Amino acid sequence: MKFTELNIIEPILKALEKQNYSEPTAIQKKAIPILLEGNDIMATAQTGTGKTAAFAIPILQLLEKGDSRPSSIKTLVLTPTRELAIQIKESFDDYGQFLTSKNAVIFGGVNQKSQVDQIKKGVDVLIATPGRLLDLMNQGYIDLKHIQYFVLDEADRMLDMGFIHDIKKIIKVLPHKRQSLFFSATMPKTIVELSNQILNSPTRISV
Ligand code: AMP
Repeated sequence: MKFTELNIIEPILKALEKQNYSEPTAIQKKAIPILLEGNDIMATAQTGTGKTAAFAIPILQLLEKGDSRPSSIKTLVLTPTRELAIQIKESFDDYGQFLTSKNAVIFGGVNQKSQVDQIKKGVDVLIATPGRLLDLMNQGYIDLKHIQYFVLDEADRMLDMGFIHDIKKIIKVLPHKRQSLFFSATMPKTIVELSNQILNSPTRISV
């Protein structure tokens, strides 16, 4: 199967060609059509399966086709570590290089000023670790009321790292009308319970 068979728009296909991606991985084949149709997903997938592209590609495409509200955060990706956050931001930049989406990343352990300055300039896609996100929300720098797409990445690792309370606080302020994507390497009971609080009639995918 080719990416062209997944109804991906030309500017993204061009970017994928530049990355030398010849065909979609298993998770991409399964997730991209479901996400482009507007459905929630609950995916069991490890790092290395191509899961980042499986959510970044359809989100970029939906954002490009949707009505563009300038200077508001429309997509939130939560991920447990700084390293993952930076990688995900680079993926959005790579796949979206021929699109207009502005992507930003925030994480703790560094001075917040450059992150705040970037947000003030207007961001479409925000990739964040939970602690720094809550910090900047509490200081009034981040408003999540225009979120249309919400990704919880590596949910099991988030729980292991003690982020459950932070995640619940963040979910509370998200609009109810949104599309949500839930990724975890494992699906123990606590993770399934959390996913039930976030997702709306999700399609389950496992690779
Ligand atoms: P991930 O599972 O998202 O961490 O991705 C693992 C690696 O696979 C990353 O280095 C991606 O650049 C790469 N990758 C993702 N999708 C594809 C694809 N369709 N073809 C080739 N490489 C890919």
